[in-house]
Amino acid sequence: MKIQCDACEAAAAEVVCCTEEAALCGGCDLRNHAGNTMATNHQRLPLSTALRPRCDTCQETLGWLFCLEDRVVLCRQCDISTHKSRPFGSGHHRLLLTNVKVGLHPKQSTTTIKLVN
Ligand SMILES: [Zn+2]
Ligand SMILES: [Zn+2]
Ligand SMILES: [Zn+2]
Ligand SMILES: [Zn+2]
Repeated sequence: MKIQCDACEAAAAEVVCCTEEAALCGGCDLRNHAGNTMATNHQRLPLSTALRPRCDTCQETLGWLFCLEDRVVLCRQCDISTHKSRPFGSGHHRLLLTNVKVGLHPKQSTTTIKLVN
């Protein structure tokens, strides 16, 4: 299963742009961000496991999502502890860095990335 590029909807996505909340392939990443001074400071996260950043909280486990409100990469454990311990944390929008679906709060609106079979 691959994550599809939101821009061209043809290639497999390689990065997630946190500002646009979009998954982009290498070509669209370049097109959207190179030469566009407004977009060059968009924070982008690689989607591949090899390049996936570590969790910002525990620094041990590979991150599996990015919280748009907290601007941090979290592993599953830290996602649960971060967002359960805060009364308003559960409404945070989170971008998945993996193709695993969020099953923790099925009733909440979580930003998900389109999956390609
Ligand atoms: Zn693309
Ligand atoms: Zn962007
Ligand atoms: Zn962690
Ligand atoms: Zn959060």
